[in-house]
Formats: sequence, C-alpha cells, structure tokens
Amino acid sequence: MGIFRYSYEQMMRGLMALEQKSQGRFRTRMLELSADGRAVAEAVLGDENAGHHVLVHGGVHGREYLNSALLMRLMADWLRRGEELEKLAEDICVHVLPMVNPDGCSLSQNGLAGIRTPGLREELQQCYAREAGNKRTLSEYFRTWKANARGVDINRNFSSGWETYRGPALPGAEGFRGRAPGCEAETRAILKVCRNYPIDCCISYHSSGNVIYWDYGTKGRVWEEGRRLALAIAGTTGYELRSTVEDGLDGAGCSDYLMRECGIAAITVETGAADCPLPAQEFPEIYARSRGVLHAAAMFCCS
Ligand SMILES: [Zn+2]
Repeated sequence: MGIFRYSYEQMMRGLMALEQKSQGRFRTRMLELSADGRAVAEAVLGDENAGHHVLVHGGVHGREYLNSALLMRLMADWLRRGEELEKLAEDICVHVLPMVNPDGCSLSQNGLAGIRTPGLREELQQCYAREAGNKRTLSEYFRTWKANARGVDINRNFSSGWETYRGPALPGAEGFRGRAPGCEAETRAILKVCRNYPIDCCISYHSSGNVIYWDYGTKGRVWEEGRRLALAIAGTTGYELRSTVEDGLDGAGCSDYLMRECGIAAITVETGAADCPLPAQEFPEIYARSRGVLHAAAMFCCS
C-alpha cells in the first residue's frame, strides 16, 4: 500500500455532497483565495448564532492531506448522528477548515504540474535549485512540501512569536515565516473565522507523531482551559500529551497565537507514526482514534 491520496478536488466534491445531504445543517463558505486560485473552504455545522463555537482545521502543511480526508469523515459522522446530536449540541456551532493550504497539497501530490500560475512555478523552481540542488529529483523535493505555493510556512506566519522566530530567510519547503505576520491568504482564512465568531476552542490537526501538543506558555485561566481541552482530547484519542514549552518548540504557530493573543484554548494533534505524506495503511487507526474528537470538543464548550 502506498501513500494515502486525497486531493483538493475530492474535498470540494465531498463538501458539496455533504451540503446536499444535510438539509440545511451544513454550509460551506469560501474564506480566501490562495495564490494559485484555490478557495480556502470553511464548513459550518450547526447554528451560526449559537452561544459556543468550535474551530477545527487541518491541511495547514501541504503534505498533511490525510488529515483533510479525516476531517471530512468526522463531519459526515457528525451529520449522520442528526437529531440526537442536535439536542446534545444545541447551542454549539462547529467550524471546520479541512484543507487550509490547498496549493501546498496540490504541490505535494503533483509537483510543479500541480501549480497553474507561471510566476509561482518559476519561484518554486528557484526554491528547488536553492534547497535541493541536484541532490533530489523535483518530485522527491515537492512530495514532502509543507509551505504554500509562495514558499511560506503557514504555521510560522502568525504574529505570536513571529518577531523572534528564526527560520529560513527565504521561501522554501518549510519554516519560512513570510514577509509579515498574517501576510498569506491561508493564515488570513483562519484569522477570519476567529474574528467572525466567539471561538471557545481550536484543534489544529497536523502530522506526524501520535501526540497532542498543548501548553503554549500561557498562565492562569487560559492555561487551565488549554489543559482541560488537552485532557479531553487525549481522553478520546489516547494520544500522549506533550508540552511545547518543555519540548522547546518554535513560535509563530496558530495555537501559539490563539492561546497567547486571543485567550482561546488551543491544542495541536499530530496524527500518524510515519513521515509525511502518511501511508494509506495508517488511516484506519488515525480515524478510529479521532472518531470522538468533535463530540469531545463540543462537550468541552458546554461544561
Ligand atoms: Zn503540520
């Protein structure tokens, strides 16, 4: 069995199918347009005027598209539970961005052919020359791509810790923070959801490691809430908890920003054991572990 394949086009078709089946309980919104012209989609489950809001997102890094398929499956499960869940989660709205970085996903799956804009392709070719030289083939280099089509790592493009973050000085496969915090469409898509709704908690799906990162160096109530969320999600997934402070991880990530600047409880779930892109054989276990996540996050909001 090879790597797990799941494309942007498959996801868009999946969103439309869910919308058709859901009788108004599910809507899709286009938040931003990526540099290569793909819409960053937000799925809304439940009443947008609800008192509580959960944000879940995945596919921030190009090569992590297995998590996009995972989030689509979790939403389908949620909708299938219908009325039972509606009573339970009456005052809760769930917002899911299954693929924050569609250009990065296309690049990881299709190499340069996955990018349509000639100017972007030229810049990406320069990234390859600079970072890979002649040591790796083009397809090997782009297969493990994490950034967007402009060579910016979306999880280093948030304002918290951005000034002090020291990564690559130029665009490339991973780690480049961009010219300014929030300068990328994909980053702005997440920020927009946080501005539009009073988000109670956020779960960021990444890969890999089979761990949950929490503890983004905050104190007091936010720290307590972050810990409560981490314990709830660890309880349902069985993933081990890891502190970003103790592990000395870099800042400028989405969870850093939400915890430190917005006071929103946020954790990062790292699915899978192998290097990305993850093999298809890991999907059943990843799905089994995450099956209860949307429910646990919803319960977190009302307790
Ligand atoms: Zn990631």
